[in-house]
Amino acid sequence: MLSLEEAIERSLTAAPRLGSESIQVVNAEGRFANVDVAAGVSLPGFDNSSMDGYAVRSFDLRDASAGTTVKLTCTGMIPAGTVPTETIVEGTCMRIFTGSPLPPDSDAVIMQEDCRTTSDSENTIFCNDSVKPWENVRLKGEDICNGSPVLASGTRITAGAIGLLAATGNNQIEVGCRPRIGFVATGSELAEPPGKLKSGEIFESNRAMLASMAKKSNARPTLYPIVPDSLDSTVTALERAFAENDAVITSGGVSVGDHDHVKPAIEQLGGSLNFWRVDVKPGKPFVLGQIDGKPLFGLPGNPVSALVTFLLMVRPALLAMQGAGKLCLAKRPGRLAEVLANGGDRRHFVRVTIDDEGLVTGTAGQGSHMLGSLARANGLLDMPPKSRLAKGSKVGVILIDQ
Ligand code: AMP
Ligand code: MG
Repeated sequence: MLSLEEAIERSLTAAPRLGSESIQVVNAEGRFANVDVAAGVSLPGFDNSSMDGYAVRSFDLRDASAGTTVKLTCTGMIPAGTVPTETIVEGTCMRIFTGSPLPPDSDAVIMQEDCRTTSDSENTIFCNDSVKPWENVRLKGEDICNGSPVLASGTRITAGAIGLLAATGNNQIEVGCRPRIGFVATGSELAEPPGKLKSGEIFESNRAMLASMAKKSNARPTLYPIVPDSLDSTVTALERAFAENDAVITSGGVSVGDHDHVKPAIEQLGGSLNFWRVDVKPGKPFVLGQIDGKPLFGLPGNPVSALVTFLLMVRPALLAMQGAGKLCLAKRPGRLAEVLANGGDRRHFVRVTIDDEGLVTGTAGQGSHMLGSLARANGLLDMPPKSRLAKGSKVGVILIDQ
């Protein structure tokens, strides 16, 4: 049996890096940058006001206070988008607005709330507060310097990063291509929902569940018809799915039962089998195959096992195919609200809920067929074999919804 770490390594090795494409920045949220981007401008691009008020020389207002009024002559106005040419000389100021460039020789802005005008002398500004040099001024380059890094290759692009890309003059960005993933469910007991089940049948649920999770990793999923347990049907289904996708994810049919045809089908198609047992619960068995340089992730049929193995071993590969830098799932720190134990001899990824206060509770029913407790869970707790965690223990919960 393979360790999880070794299985992930092999999974990454089997997954080819896809090409990159240039897309509009507005559509780049969640995608992975495939280039380093440097700023083509500084942010701010020029010294500008952070307030509506008056651009002044701070020295002129050194004596202004609630009890001492200083009068300045306003020589003009600087609406946003205009360029002031007039120099602020002793005793003068200019009306300025948030984002307007500072006029020459001005070194501060006094907020309009700290000034008064009178109706008979509108150009005279009465100031009752002093300002420090560079008060209410946003300095050129204080956020981003021209030429400094804006986005590193491998980074997941967030809305904030999109704002920064646009602010530094980009409308296109080079990102990893989205992997086309075919989803194939095997099992003669499986029926397409909705409808009436014949006796012995169950509704097929893995394709929709796995495809929805894969979409979070930018996958472009195709769901193929349910495949009955026969070698011929499995070979035909895999052949089609491989022709149309960058990788194929199957569920079911990877045990050692007489009706498990995924492994023989890979062999019949001339593919290779990399491993098929991983030392985790839920999850064993898991198949990693390769056909024509494309990976096949053969997940167990039990729904919980399928989702957990997808998150642990397939998701990193989908991300690596796009050139992602960070492949592992994020964790949130929490405290156990109850005792949790793993009495088994395999590493167990226990379904838990973690609430807003960080309190962690096991979801009842940890059987690998139990979708009810999977649907209630928002996290997984990695518990070593034969381990017990006391109530109140500090834990790191792997978040499912990523
Ligand atoms: P298998 O891995 O094929 O031995 O299946 C293990 C268990 O998971 C069996 O109880 C199957 O009925 C169930 N199962 C397999 N595939 C699916 C599926 N796509 N949706 C729901 N249950 C499944
Ligand atoms: Mg089966």
